[in-house]
Amino acid sequence: MKRIGFIGLGIMGKPMALNLIDAGYSLVVYDINPKPVEDLREAGAEVASSAKEVAEKTSVIITMLPNSPHVKEVVFGEKGIIEGIQKDAILIDMSSIAPAASKEIAEGLSKKGAHMLDAPVSGGEPKAIDGTLSIMVGGKKEIFDKVYDILMVMGSSAVLCGDVGAGNTTKLANQIIVAANIAALSEALVLGKKAGVDPEVIFKAIRGGLAGSTVMEAKAPMMIQGNFKPGFRIALHIKDLNNVLETGHEYGAPLPLTSVVMEMMQWLKANNYDIEDHSALLRYYENLAGATIRD
Ligand code: NAD
Repeated sequence: MKRIGFIGLGIMGKPMALNLIDAGYSLVVYDINPKPVEDLREAGAEVASSAKEVAEKTSVIITMLPNSPHVKEVVFGEKGIIEGIQKDAILIDMSSIAPAASKEIAEGLSKKGAHMLDAPVSGGEPKAIDGTLSIMVGGKKEIFDKVYDILMVMGSSAVLCGDVGAGNTTKLANQIIVAANIAALSEALVLGKKAGVDPEVIFKAIRGGLAGSTVMEAKAPMMIQGNFKPGFRIALHIKDLNNVLETGHEYGAPLPLTSVVMEMMQWLKANNYDIEDHSALLRYYENLAGATIRD
């Protein structure tokens, strides 16, 4: 299992793939964007011309793609994984997608005698670079055990959450909490600014208390500097919250907080900010208040 396929070399996938090469794995890679493919070639990876070719050449394939339709296209589409996958091969889909889509893909692969884990991640680009992602996994324990060492090259933890789909359900829970946290942080900093207390002072004063969080540590400095370079794009968080809302409606779990933050993100999208980092939720509050926290 020293040869691994890797499809989807974006903000997250590229550093994850580079870490696997650094750890001694040989990679066969594919992406529709030629730029990161060339970067991986220079780092020593073999380049494939299709997802099918990746599947033909490897018995463990990792995908890191935007959303459910992209993963389904790469697996079931023309020259897709399904055309080349070997019996007993393992697809580790590390994209954040709908749990129902993970189950559908696993079922399709099982007809070819192949296995699947859904293994979305939390931690963003910095932790993808450091190899310290938190990985939430769904699938069979014996398959998880087979690829645990590979996962631990990319992450500092890999937790089996249940059968296929459970990884993405856990990721949706993560995305609710992150979105609501960023909204609360924005609301708090704008209040502070309007009431005459420097947002940087507020951050320094409260970061060590109960309100402190990983979200605050990562996002408050970006907000204070007005630096909304992604990171994690609003467009991707909207995608995740859509999956949250659909899943919640399917299972009868009302999601009032998520739906409010979703509408804030829709305002950002309507104003062409959806290419920015999700810390740009601050812009929504600054617009309501008629002032920025840097004025
Ligand atoms: P990205 O858009 O930067 O990368 C996606 C890559 O997939 C691109 O290189 C794109 O060219 C490639 N791609 C798309 N369709 C393809 C196809 N049909 N065949 C081959 N390649 C294709 O996205 P990202 O930020 O790397 O995120 C990837 C996944 O990880 C998403 O599901 C996202 O929600 C999740 N995620 C992202 C972050 C983050 O901070 N960026 C954090 C945690 C989880």
